[in-house]
Amino acid sequence: MPWLIALLCAGGVVLVFFLAIERQAIEARERQHLQQQVRVINDNLSQQLEAMNRALEAVIDDAGPLPVSAEHVQRTQRRLKAFSRAMIGVRTMAMVDARGNVIAASRDGLLGRNFSERDYFRAARSATSPNTLIISPPYTTALNVWAITLARVMVDAQGNFAGIVTATLDPEAFTTLLESVRYTSDVSVTLAHGDGLRFLMVGQAAGLADPDMARPGSPLSSRLQSGEAATVFSGALVEGGPVQLMTIHTVQPAALQMDKPLLVAVARSRAAVFADWQYKAVALAVAYLVLALLAAGWLRSRHQRRLQRLQQERALAAMNAGFEARWRAVLEATNQGVWDWDTVTDKVFFSPVWKAMLGCAEDEVGDSLEEWRSRVHPDDLVAAQQVLQTHLKGETGVYEHLYRMRHKNGNYLWIHDRGGIVERDAQARPLRVIGSCTDVSQQRQQQQTLDRLTANVPGALYQYQLEADGHGFFPYVSAAIQDIYACRPEDLQQDGSQVFSRIHPDDLQAVRDGIEQSARTLELWLSEYRVFLPGRGERWISGRAKPELLASGAVLWHGYLQDVTEAKQQAMQLQETERLLRHLMQEMPIGLLMVDGQGQAYYVNRRFQQLCGYSLDELSAPEQWWLLAYPDADQRARARHIWEQAVAQADNNGGYIPDQSYTITTLEGLQRTLRIGGITFGNHFLATLVDDTEQQAENAFFRGLAYNDGLTGLANRRRFDELFEAEWQRCRRSQRPLAVLMIDIDQFKRYNDTYGHPQGDICLQQVADVLRQGCRRSHDLVARYGGEEFVCLLPECDLDAARAQAQALRLALFERSIEHSSADVAPVVTISIGVACLIPDAQSTPQQLLAMADANLYRAKANGRNRVDDGGQ
Ligand code: GH3
Ligand code: MG
Ligand code: MG
Repeated sequence: MPWLIALLCAGGVVLVFFLAIERQAIEARERQHLQQQVRVINDNLSQQLEAMNRALEAVIDDAGPLPVSAEHVQRTQRRLKAFSRAMIGVRTMAMVDARGNVIAASRDGLLGRNFSERDYFRAARSATSPNTLIISPPYTTALNVWAITLARVMVDAQGNFAGIVTATLDPEAFTTLLESVRYTSDVSVTLAHGDGLRFLMVGQAAGLADPDMARPGSPLSSRLQSGEAATVFSGALVEGGPVQLMTIHTVQPAALQMDKPLLVAVARSRAAVFADWQYKAVALAVAYLVLALLAAGWLRSRHQRRLQRLQQERALAAMNAGFEARWRAVLEATNQGVWDWDTVTDKVFFSPVWKAMLGCAEDEVGDSLEEWRSRVHPDDLVAAQQVLQTHLKGETGVYEHLYRMRHKNGNYLWIHDRGGIVERDAQARPLRVIGSCTDVSQQRQQQQTLDRLTANVPGALYQYQLEADGHGFFPYVSAAIQDIYACRPEDLQQDGSQVFSRIHPDDLQAVRDGIEQSARTLELWLSEYRVFLPGRGERWISGRAKPELLASGAVLWHGYLQDVTEAKQQAMQLQETERLLRHLMQEMPIGLLMVDGQGQAYYVNRRFQQLCGYSLDELSAPEQWWLLAYPDADQRARARHIWEQAVAQADNNGGYIPDQSYTITTLEGLQRTLRIGGITFGNHFLATLVDDTEQQAENAFFRGLAYNDGLTGLANRRRFDELFEAEWQRCRRSQRPLAVLMIDIDQFKRYNDTYGHPQGDICLQQVADVLRQGCRRSHDLVARYGGEEFVCLLPECDLDAARAQAQALRLALFERSIEHSSADVAPVVTISIGVACLIPDAQSTPQQLLAMADANLYRAKANGRNRVDDGGQ
């Protein structure tokens, strides 16, 4: 605190000193300015006086012998006029004879006047030397103006006074000169006669000033008394007026013998000179005062705080003294070794329990810190000292460390050491540190055993505790938690939230919900979720934990986490494979039927339904297939016998059931011959059904006639009609949409006309080829409907998909670019397509669907051909 006061005082002194110096500098500068200005006027005025003196001399010399003759008066008159015109500041010039009469003058009005009473005339008559330049005090002239007159004496041949020549000066003419030295507006300049009467004054104080500067006590009179040359001094121009800084100079050129000098005074108000300085001084003083007040306030509060702290510390120390004995006793009673270190003397008190813990008797341990240091395990010593130092530096609130110490028997114990600073000096340096040591070797051993056990478990064991306030942590986690969450076990012991940042964002909510539910219901927590680990990417974790409600309201789970990524990936791959297989079975062009050990059918594919018409619904009871497929009891018995024999063979045949021909009755009541075989697996079997009707028709011609179009190889109209009917029924039962595309080649008549009928046939085959390529779903059907018209049957296909399919077919043909030079639409063969689709029901018929497609085809033709029309806008 004293240093601050000293600093503030020193600052004040420096400030005052600085201001004083600056004030002096300003004054010195100002004096210099004033003196400079006064010199300028002196130089100028001296030159002018010398010039005027020369002019007066010239007039006298020119006048001829005195007294002046009439002839010479004439000449003199002209000269006086010429000179007074030529010389600045000269108002009039005159020649006066020995009696005082004006005999010649620059102004005619002066002729004949008598100036014998004028001061200058009297002064001239009594002048000792004819070279004297007489300077009159300012006076009001005959022409009634304020002026000064310069005069030179004329003498006759005998040396007697013969008269004078005068030049009367006009004050106005000197205004410019005086104004020129006013370097600021508050400077005033005065020109006066040597006796003190003012001739001219410019500047602010002009009106105020006393015209007689020589009055006793005025600056001038004191100046004249001092007898010094141009110096600067202070004083008021008028009594009670503002104090001025001024300089007064005597103008009296050495080359002239002036009877009286002229005086020049340049003055400036002191207030104006120091205005800026004063402002600065006040501002600095105020700033300094504020600073001093602030500092004083701060000092005061600091002092009070310090006092308070001291009081608290004293009170605490007093309390401690009482406590000390008690806490030592308590700690000793709880089997904790106490140490008490005085950092000033570096002596340590080690309690009896502390010594006993290490197997030492009371007198076997000294009282230096070295006693502790020498017992710490060499591998732990550096770290232990570091932890202590960090605490002494104030970086930790408590000193706490786990390290090994040597027992007297040579074994090392694990010691949990905990303590802190209890006393500090005024500079907050620690004076006294105390602490207690506990032997935790046994716990350490248990922990190590547990760690070894858990190390051999694939996965992490843990306890997770969720407090009522939502804070969660892991009281125990095995080391393997690092593989699960990439978190360090010791980090999770205080705060478990790090774990949740690892969980995949898509799974996080589910995990949280699961934990929340388990906490609420106290049911087993089971979860499978993804985590994202740095450097290892996405992993699948499976967890299970048993919750337990603690008395505090917290929930504690005992659980187990395992990385199941590989198993999860396999399961997903299996699922994918199964999906693929299902698809393949469903779309296979072979009918499939799966039956379990009780004879219950549980799977049929699409082809099975196309062939037999029966869906799983119809085969709901175990014997149902036989009853439906063989309405006739005798035929049923025969067929069953054949089948059962074939199944019996499978056992010796690697599970393979040889296929044989069966003629069944379909749902529609038609007879159909199928080759049925299969495989057994377990007590299930899979039956395969192939349409034998076609296979049996080995005769190509017959087959062609029956179901295929001879020219294009597509299904014929009859085949189409049959399948159309069957699909209609099937879709009606499953309530799935059925679509039909009606296709007609554009301007085919012209094609025939242009290229000939045989070429027309080839074209039909090419079109058929494009359509066949374009309809590749196994259950889609393309048929030649007649002439150059085709039809596509698309089961389970909605209108959007059908339209898309139609567009694809139209485009495919267009891109095939079969030349058709006489067509209007394009120079290639094109088709128009009518699309229709509906979900068959009791009110609709297949014919209606066909008619719709046909009508849309007609619209496509009407709208310009080479287009698809689905009846929409
Ligand atoms: P649009 O665009 O209106 O359908 O004109 P288009 O000429 O195709 O008209 P239309 O349907 O009246 O003509 C069908 C023609 O198809 C008539 C016939 O010469 C020809 N045609 C029908 N069947 C065959 C066939 O098997 N072979 C050949 N080469 N031509 C056939
Ligand atoms: Mg046509
Ligand atoms: Mg046609």
